[in-house]
Amino acid sequence: QQSLEQVQDQIKFDGDGLVPAIVQDAASKEVLMMAYMNRESLKRSIETGETWFWSRSRQELWNKGATSGNTQKIVSAHYDCDGDTLLFLVKPAGPACHTGETTCFYRGITTPAVASVEASGSTDQARHRFAVLEELEQVIAEREKDRPEGAYTTYLFDKGVDKILKKVGEETAETIIAAKNKDNAELRLEVSDLIYHLLVLLQERKLPLDDIMAELDRRHERPRRD
Ligand code: AMP
Ligand code: ZN
Ligand code: ZN
Repeated sequence: QQSLEQVQDQIKFDGDGLVPAIVQDAASKEVLMMAYMNRESLKRSIETGETWFWSRSRQELWNKGATSGNTQKIVSAHYDCDGDTLLFLVKPAGPACHTGETTCFYRGITTPAVASVEASGSTDQARHRFAVLEELEQVIAEREKDRPEGAYTTYLFDKGVDKILKKVGEETAETIIAAKNKDNAELRLEVSDLIYHLLVLLQERKLPLDDIMAELDRRHERPRRD
């Protein structure tokens, strides 16, 4: 634990006594806004657990949401490597922007070079490469709980673990055959089938995908030399 003075000593306020503060939604990780803090607004933010800024246009301390009601509850606070920028992860009570937009960064720059990079992504929203795995894991969990009639996943859970294991075996064999045939179109399908059935198996065994990811991560950080 640090004292307020210890924190303030780490922060490099600029010539006007200000430091930029980035505000991010703690749950969605969306960047919400940037505004300036001075020593007093940083102190108030830390002491009250709500964001306070220094309004350069109004030359006054400003508790975000004081008039709009859209306050920001501070979940965690960070300063960067050289202490010239603050980052607050918050739980917002409403839109961060005075225009009513959730985030102040609702206007995209669409010059050709920038727009083409965005267009190559799967959606126009920032999306994790493996987001579909998380979504699939969630859908499979819902299927197991609700057992909607006619769904293949329902059929697998109804049949039980032996059926699921049989499918994992089959899809593994088909993956091997596709790879041997050097047919990547086929391999793409079979690996997809295999991954889906592995996710069903993990759900059946109540082993979260997070545990698999954590295991891979551990191995990655401490590579074995033998
Ligand atoms: P609020 O803090 O939401 O009660 O809004 C009070 C005033 O602060 C607004 O009328 C704006 O002038 C200003 N303001 C609020 N949110 C922002 C923001 N995200 N960026 C810049 N100015 C803001
Ligand atoms: Zn910096
Ligand atoms: Zn705004």
